Amino acid sequence: MDYELSINGDVVDRPEDVDTLMSLLTNVDDFWISSDKESDNHFIQAGVTTGISESLQDKYENHYHSLEHWKDGTQIIEVEDVDVSVANKLVKAFLEKDYDSIKETADSLLKLRGEVGEDTFCTNCGSKLTPEQRFCPSCGEKNN
Ligand SMILES: [Zn+2]
Repeated sequence: MDYELSINGDVVDRPEDVDTLMSLLTNVDDFWISSDKESDNHFIQAGVTTGISESLQDKYENHYHSLEHWKDGTQIIEVEDVDVSVANKLVKAFLEKDYDSIKETADSLLKLRGEVGEDTFCTNCGSKLTPEQRFCPSCGEKNN
């Protein structure tokens, strides 16, 4: 993917390879955003200590406070308290445009924590929706 990387609010030179990127991201002390240059409003971002009180920041060592994947103004995934190794996996999948794998990883994390609620079904076509899916993947209908 042709992407742009922003760290702590500043656009930085794009790392040469994924390993360099990972070591860069691991050392981010605030937040990073990796944006798809070919598509507006498509990015993955993670915050390290943003929004966390100082007394809790030690807890978040090697963790991201939250990680989000957005496309076209819709939040596709949001996972809180993400281990760096999991975040790395998600970023790699993003750069490889393997969005299904991002979703699967995030879903399995949320399931593990019991944060996934009952399945719901599209009001238009009856397709199964995950709790965080506001737009039906089959017909595009907006569901609540
Ligand atoms: Zn539908």
